[in-house]
Amino acid sequence: MSIIMDRSALGRYADCPHQASLCIKHNIPLNDRLPVGGVLGHDVIDKAFKKHCIDQPDGGKVYELDKVAQTVVDELPKTRPDLSKDVVEGCKYAGDVIAGLANIPIVGVEMQTEATITPEEFKEKLGFITDQTVTITQCFDLVQYGTNSLHYRDWKTGYKKRTRADAEEEFQSACGAWLLMRNYDGVKTTADGQILPKIDTIHVWYHELRWRTTAYARFDRSSEDPAQSHLTTFKLLEYRILSAAKLWLEGSDEAWPEPKKCGFCSAVTKCKLADWTIKEVADNPSKYVDCYVAIKAKSTAMYKALKSFHQGYGRIEGSEVAFDWKPSPKYIPKIMPKVNKGPVDEDIDSFFK
Ligand code: SF4
Repeated sequence: MSIIMDRSALGRYADCPHQASLCIKHNIPLNDRLPVGGVLGHDVIDKAFKKHCIDQPDGGKVYELDKVAQTVVDELPKTRPDLSKDVVEGCKYAGDVIAGLANIPIVGVEMQTEATITPEEFKEKLGFITDQTVTITQCFDLVQYGTNSLHYRDWKTGYKKRTRADAEEEFQSACGAWLLMRNYDGVKTTADGQILPKIDTIHVWYHELRWRTTAYARFDRSSEDPAQSHLTTFKLLEYRILSAAKLWLEGSDEAWPEPKKCGFCSAVTKCKLADWTIKEVADNPSKYVDCYVAIKAKSTAMYKALKSFHQGYGRIEGSEVAFDWKPSPKYIPKIMPKVNKGPVDEDIDSFFK
C-alpha cells in the first residue's frame, strides 16, 4: 500500500497530531487563514514566472528575471481595487528580490520534489513496523544553484515574521532541506536520466513580503549538533520527517499545546484543550478586538481611580496582591505581591512591642 504525504499536511502532525486529525475529521483546508491579498500576491508571482519562461531545445528552461520582476510589480495592483498598501508594497519588494537574482542559475520554479520511504526503511531507521510505502512531497517556489549548495526561496505572504531561529525550526525548512539533500546525493537521476550532483548545503530564504524582510536558515549535510555529536544534520532532519510520517500512519491524536502553535492552529475552534481566549478570538475576531478595546479603556479608567485613591490613602490590599508604589523618582503605583509576614514568633514579636 502507498500513501502520499504533502509537506503542509505532514507538518500538522509534526506540530500537533491532534490538530492534524481534527483537520482531516472536519475537512479544514490548509492555509485557510491566509489573507486574500497574500493569496493573490503568490498567484501573481507564479504567473509572472510562467509568462517569462523560455523553453530550451535541450528541455531546460530560462527565465527572464528582469521581466518577471517588472510583471510582478505591474500586475498585482490590477487584480483587485481594495488591496491594502502593504500588499502592493510587498509585491514591489518581491520584484526587487527577483531582479537581484538575475545572474543565479535556476534549478526550478514551482518545483515539485518527492522522496519515497519503504516499509524496510521505516523498520531500519525508526524500528517502526508498517506495510505502507510513503511518498513525501513538497513544492518549492524557487530553487537556484549556489557553490556546492542550493538556495531554496519561498514567498511568504502572511503576517508571521520570523527570526533566524524560527526559520531553522520550521517544519517546512526541515522537510525542504531533507528532500533536496536526499535527491541531490550524487546518485539519483532526473526523469531524463541525468545524475543530480551531490549537494551538501541548503540555504533557505523566506521572503516575507508583507514586512519587506527576509528570514534565513542554513543546513549543512554533515555538520554535527554539539549536543548530539553522533548525529549529522541530515540524520536529524530525516528522523524529524520520518517520525512525523509515523504519527500519521499510526493515526495519532495526541495534543501538544503550546501558545505559539495554538495561536496559528487551523483547528483551534474544535480543540478540547484550547485556551478559551484563543477559541473566542478565532470564533469572532472582529467582536474580540472590539471587546479588547473596550476592556482596555475600562482598565485604564480603573487604574486612574486606584491611583487617585492610593494618593489619598496609601497601599491598597487585594486578597492575593496589593496596589502600591516603591519609592522611585517617578510615581507609578502598580500591582505587586503582598508582603509575606511569615510565621508569628512570640519571643521576637514581643521584643518589638
Ligand atoms: S489548539 Fe493547540 S493543542 Fe489544540 S489542536 Fe491546535 S495546536 Fe493542538
